[in-house]
Amino acid sequence: MNGGGQDKAIIVKTPEEIQVMYQANQIVAGVLSMLQKEMKPGLTTHQLDRWAEEYCRDHGAEPAFKGYRGFPASLCVSINEQVVHGIPSKHVKVREGDIVSVDFGTKYKGFFGDSAVTIPVGKVSEQIQSLLTVTRDALYKAIDQVRVGNRIADLSRAVQAYVEEKGFSVVRQFVGHGIGTSLHEGPEVPNYIQKQASPRILEGMVVAIEPMVNIGTHKVKVLRDRWTVVTADRKPSAHFEHSVAALADGPFILSDPQER
Ligand code: MG
Ligand code: MG
Repeated sequence: MNGGGQDKAIIVKTPEEIQVMYQANQIVAGVLSMLQKEMKPGLTTHQLDRWAEEYCRDHGAEPAFKGYRGFPASLCVSINEQVVHGIPSKHVKVREGDIVSVDFGTKYKGFFGDSAVTIPVGKVSEQIQSLLTVTRDALYKAIDQVRVGNRIADLSRAVQAYVEEKGFSVVRQFVGHGIGTSLHEGPEVPNYIQKQASPRILEGMVVAIEPMVNIGTHKVKVLRDRWTVVTADRKPSAHFEHSVAALADGPFILSDPQER
């Protein structure tokens, strides 16, 4: 999930705190791996939310999004033209050919984890498969810039340059964020270059990097439910997110799924 870290403090973490954040994020990774394995046509988005929350609680964590600013569920489920913050429903089933962004957060021993993947349901079109590949690759290009002494703008540039070279667009209205004892801390992590000065990456900084990539226009709208973000032209959108710590020797992907 993203709520922005604008004007919020940047708080660097100790190695011990990063270990706890790793555990929080590994529970998120476990949820997302489970959803990837179970995804099939006919499932309701409500069922995905139930499974995610059960897995989270079974592993000793709290679902971080439930009740966050009034969000009514544990999992954000955003299908096709929905970009982020889709609300699970008993009345919505995933269908063959859909792409389903699942975004999950945990709170564990006082720290937050946050990660997202977009899952294809069955066979998807070549263009949609390309959208998924480009969005995930853009995330990894940003992660590679998480190096002490770089600036956040180096992540933003890596995402925007790669995505636009591939003919897609990056969402501007929602951004990644610092994460720690709050779900959203400073700095903001935009997926596009901004004019203002950008913070330096410090050792121990942890950021949730989350490119949202559209096939058509970068413009988005929020639906009347006040949560679901959709593309303005209703063309498909993909979303991948990892929480990443800046260590002295480079990026450490806290939400990296282990073989399980
Ligand atoms: Mg998220
Ligand atoms: Mg996030």
